[in-house]
Amino acid sequence: MTRWRNENPLLLYNIRQLLTLRGDSGPRRGGAMRELGIIEDATVLCSGGKITSIGKTRDAVKDPRVKRLNKKLVEIDCSGKIVLPGFVDSHTHPAFAAPRLFDFEKRISGAIYEEIAQAGGGIRSSVDAVRKIRRADLASKILTVFDAMAVHGTTAVEAKSGYGLSTEDEITSLAAIRDAANRWPGTAVPTFMGAHVVPREYDDRPEQYVRLIEQEMVPQVARRRLARFVDVFVEASAFNSKSAERIFTAAHEQKLGIRAHACQLTPASIAPLMRFRPASLDHLDHIDDREIPLLVASETVATLLPGANYFLGLTRYPPARKLIEAGVAVALASDYNPGTSPTLSMQMVLSLACTQMRMSPAEAITAATINGACALRLGNTKGSIEAGKDADLAIFDVSDYREVCYWFGANLCSAVILNGHLRTRDRLARPAYDI
Ligand SMILES: [Zn+2]
Repeated sequence: MTRWRNENPLLLYNIRQLLTLRGDSGPRRGGAMRELGIIEDATVLCSGGKITSIGKTRDAVKDPRVKRLNKKLVEIDCSGKIVLPGFVDSHTHPAFAAPRLFDFEKRISGAIYEEIAQAGGGIRSSVDAVRKIRRADLASKILTVFDAMAVHGTTAVEAKSGYGLSTEDEITSLAAIRDAANRWPGTAVPTFMGAHVVPREYDDRPEQYVRLIEQEMVPQVARRRLARFVDVFVEASAFNSKSAERIFTAAHEQKLGIRAHACQLTPASIAPLMRFRPASLDHLDHIDDREIPLLVASETVATLLPGANYFLGLTRYPPARKLIEAGVAVALASDYNPGTSPTLSMQMVLSLACTQMRMSPAEAITAATINGACALRLGNTKGSIEAGKDADLAIFDVSDYREVCYWFGANLCSAVILNGHLRTRDRLARPAYDI
């Protein structure tokens, strides 16, 4: 993909279907998840990194703003294509050094997650590599991932630490995320996840590791403004809800947002976590039906991560239909990580959501855009195409939005606009941007 910074205003026109997702800035629930606000033969004008106006192509020529910008304007012909809000990938773990091929082969031969961890694989094997890598090398790996995500239509991403697991290595990981974010035109939201797993050196005293997180790591991360959220892997093999409550109390004191991995591998009550009003609870494969009303009555988004189920070879997927029909705000994310979901393709995630969780294409797109933005508390600026919002757009080389979910295993995104910066891999733009 050719890369450049584009400071000029942009006019996208002849858009076959523009998926605006317009509406209120809160997360969409129930039937509202199927309302994409489609405009046919549409146009979008962006300038200064923001969306200036949307409408019909035939009206754009009369628009005084378009006339005024005439000379500087970069025109992008989107004939036969669709445009949607850039994907908001609200759950990723990009701060790692190497793929986990040992785990991959072990699992193929029949080992389960806990057995792989005991055999020296799992999250801890990624920790060894991250503790050795230089910050600059980690940052350049993360930037490569952000760039690849953009190529696949993602314009905003949440990025967790969690493979350092010491104060120094967690801070280095978050600093590397910030370095990469500063060099990327998209938006990256950093999350501190020291509570990913108990590191080996605390095996016989896990309680002390929790104390280190609450008393040292969270305050230091907050003081250095390295994270917006704190995440805890609440799971029998990681941290119980009592430990999570302590860590979240420390996060609240530092005015950091809360999110958690919950009910991924085994059932557990989400009630103690909901007390902290988390922005999102993620996975929820084993959520207790009786606790679904807790989510319905809250602003907490349920972020489902079917890439992990696919890669772990599970037949059971998160209960998307049950959650949507109850009125829970559902988001979809990649869970990009080296152990359980090595994909950064939101298009693949949408395919899995439709085929394995029976979400409709419209619901899946809503979950991957505006509801993903709400899971990061960015619903006011991201996730829909409306005047005044950030110019984050993805152009797909298909003529019907349902094709984004229908084709799988190939990337159909032909260009993205990240905070007003255009990146394209074909001859969409003319004339200054012919490549
Ligand atoms: Zn995760």
